[in-house]
Amino acid sequence: MTESHPSHALRASTDVVVLGAGPAGLVLGNLLLGAGIDCVVLERASRSRLRDRARAGFLTPGTARILERHGLADGLHRHGRRHGTCEFRTPEGRFRLDYGTLGGGPHHVYPQQNLVTDLLRHYLDRGGRIHFDTEAHTVHDADGTRPSVTASGPDGRPARWTARYVAGCDGRYGAARRCLPPGTVRHHHDHGVTWLGLLAQAPPSLDAVGYALHERGFAGHMARTAEVTRYYLQWRRGTTADAWSDQRIWDELDLRMGAAEHGPLHRGALLERGLFDLTCDVIEPLRHGSLFLAGDAAALLAPAAAKGANLAVLEAEILAGALADALTRGDTTGLDGYSDRCLAHIWRAQEFTGWMCRLLHCAPEPDGAGGSSFQAGLRRSRIASLRTSRVLQDWFAENYAGV
Ligand SMILES: Cc1cc2nc3c(=O)[nH]c(=O)nc-3n(C[C@H](O)[C@H](O)[C@H](O)COP(=O)(O)OP(=O)(O)OC[C@H]3O[C@@H](n4cnc5c(N)ncnc54)[C@H](O)[C@@H]3O)c2cc1C
Repeated sequence: MTESHPSHALRASTDVVVLGAGPAGLVLGNLLLGAGIDCVVLERASRSRLRDRARAGFLTPGTARILERHGLADGLHRHGRRHGTCEFRTPEGRFRLDYGTLGGGPHHVYPQQNLVTDLLRHYLDRGGRIHFDTEAHTVHDADGTRPSVTASGPDGRPARWTARYVAGCDGRYGAARRCLPPGTVRHHHDHGVTWLGLLAQAPPSLDAVGYALHERGFAGHMARTAEVTRYYLQWRRGTTADAWSDQRIWDELDLRMGAAEHGPLHRGALLERGLFDLTCDVIEPLRHGSLFLAGDAAALLAPAAAKGANLAVLEAEILAGALADALTRGDTTGLDGYSDRCLAHIWRAQEFTGWMCRLLHCAPEPDGAGGSSFQAGLRRSRIASLRTSRVLQDWFAENYAGV
C-alpha cells in the first residue's frame, strides 16, 4: 500500500528509513518486510520515471539466486534470457569465450527498469510504504540511536521521519553520501575513458556480448530485449553526446565492430544517448553510526564489467539480514561486520572492472585519439592470453559472472 502524500508537514517514525528505490533500496525494503520489520522508502523520482529508467541489463547467477531465495524472481524467470558468451573482435580476428560453461554460469539478461518494476510490485503487495517525488535532504543524529531524515515531498512539502536505522541506497549523488562525517574516506579513480551509451530500437546483432577493440577506440554490443539493444562507443571526452548524427554513429559502430567482415549490425532509431566517464569510487567505511550505505551510494563502478546492480542486490541482502538480527534479536554482529564484508566484494569487483577497462581500451593519447602504440601492444597481448590460456579464461568466467 502506498502511503498517501502529506498535505502538510509530515512527522512519522518507523524502524528503517530507506533512501532510494533502485535495486538496492527495493530489495532491502522487500526483505525487511519479509522479516516483519517496518520500513518506509523515500524516492526522489516519480513512479513512472522509476519504471522507465534504462540502465543495467546483465544480472549474475548470484543475483538470480538472491531474488529466487526471497520470492522476487518471477519476472526474471518469465522474461529474462540466459546469456553466456562474449565475442572479442580485434584487427587480428575474432574469438568467442563461452564463459557461461566455464564455472561462473551464464548471466540473465533482464533490463533494470523491469527488475525495479517487479521489485516495486512485490514491495507494494507485501504492504510496503513508499513516497515518490520525495527528496531526502539530510540524515540527522546518525551517531545516535534515533536518527531522522528530513525530506521534501511533492510540491516541496517538508517531512521528517525518525527511525532506528537509515539505509542510504540513494546512489552516487544522494543525501546519504552528503551526510557522512569528515573522516570518511572516498577512494576515487578515473579510468580516463568516456563511453557514449546508446539504446537502439533494434534487435541484437549477435548472440553474444560484443567487445570490439579497434584503433579508433572501443565499441560494445549488449542485448537487452528482442527489440532493444545497447551499444557503446569510446568517445572523446568533452565531446557532447549529440555531436554526431545517427547515421555517423551507425557507420562508426559498423567500422569498429568490423561489420564488413563479421556481418551487418541491425540498425534502428537511437532511443537514448548518454555519456559515461569511466570513473569509480569506494566509500570507506560503509557505516556511520545508524546510517548504512548500499549500492551505488557505497561504491560506484564503471559499467565496463556490469557489476553495479549486482553488488547493490548483494549488499541489500547482507544489510537486510543484519538489520533483522539487530531489530528482532538485539544481535548487532551483522551490522558490526557489514562494512568489512561488503568492502571485500566491492574491491574485488573494482579490481576486475579495472582489468576489463585495461583490456578494452588503450590509455588515450593526449589528443584523445585511440591510444599509444605501446598500450596497443599490451592490449594485443592481453587479448592473446585470454584467447589461449585456459587458466585466464577460468579466472575471467569466475569474475565476469560473479560478484
Ligand atoms: C549505462 C549503464 C549500464 C549499466 N549496466 C549494468 C549491468 O549490466 N549490470 C550491472 O550490475 N550494473 C550495471 N550498471 C550499474 C547499475 O545500473 C547501478 O549500479 C545500479 O542502478 C545501482 O543501484 P542502486 O539501487 O544502488 O542505485 P540507483 O539505481 O541509482 O537507485 C538510487 C535511487 O535513489 C534515488 N535518489 C537519489 N537521490 C535521492 C534523494 N536525495 N532522496 C530520495 N531518493 C533519491 C534515485 O532517484 C534512484 O531511484 C549500469 C549503469 C549504467 C549507467
